[in-house]
Amino acid sequence: MQLDDYIKAGKIASEVRELARNKDWVGKTLYEICETVESEIINRGGKCAFPVNTSLNELAAHYTAEPNDPKVLTSSDLIKIDLGVQINGYIADTAVSVSYDPESAILVEAAESALKAAMGMVKEGTKSSDIGKTIQKTITQYNLKPIGNLSGHSLEQYTIHAGKSIPNMWSIGSFSLSSKEAYACEPFVTTAKGLGFVRDGKIKNIFGLVSRKKTKNENANKLADFIWENFNTLPFALRWITKTHDEKESRVLLDELVKNKIVRAYPVLNEANGQRVAQAEHTFIPNESGALITTL
Ligand code: MN
Ligand code: MN
Repeated sequence: MQLDDYIKAGKIASEVRELARNKDWVGKTLYEICETVESEIINRGGKCAFPVNTSLNELAAHYTAEPNDPKVLTSSDLIKIDLGVQINGYIADTAVSVSYDPESAILVEAAESALKAAMGMVKEGTKSSDIGKTIQKTITQYNLKPIGNLSGHSLEQYTIHAGKSIPNMWSIGSFSLSSKEAYACEPFVTTAKGLGFVRDGKIKNIFGLVSRKKTKNENANKLADFIWENFNTLPFALRWITKTHDEKESRVLLDELVKNKIVRAYPVLNEANGQRVAQAEHTFIPNESGALITTL
């Protein structure tokens, strides 16, 4: 484990997250928000571990801006800004929810407070099911619901979801936190009217390379090479390709790579009853007495 790189990535991620929390984004397009947050990461010497997610309201996760996305943030929106920084593939994954609507502020507060409770209990050996129990208990004290089918995760070099899940509610099956591994913890909260789980939506604008196999289309193969060289197996957005490639052609080729199962497309995740969702997230490395929260 490259502790130095985890710490560097965490420091950048935390600075940019605080900037995202405090800036007034009302009136800005989702495109401007994504591009601004990503530039702040790059200006600090980091690389984006994935496209900044700007999921609004009942979209819990996995929305990033389309090229020149015209959608404008309004003062009644609740936005989750989820960002990832990588240094040599070692990742800091962190998120903040910003509500300009006072009615949604309680969701944000509950997500933050569940994350804080979880961070207060983690150390080497902590059982993942106990973390889920704490998150669930904190959220239900607000008369709100955790999203049961979204969870935190272990991290590995160039891998965001490395196999182990840190649940947001009590669950059967558990593992103990190791001091040799980094993890992300990310409580998601919805209202009492919410069903407390997410379903795949129709929109897919985050992608990831899953295979290096060739297609019969030479241009599609060239795009796959570009993806591999620039993003490795980490998630990417069409926005990142159209900085140097034609948009129309890239859409066709990307579609072809998805059909050939060379690239995976991630659907947006909607709260199953259309209720608003808030999220908070930190990356941490457990130790004997607690944890190093790299994104604090
Ligand atoms: Mn995240
Ligand atoms: Mn995460």
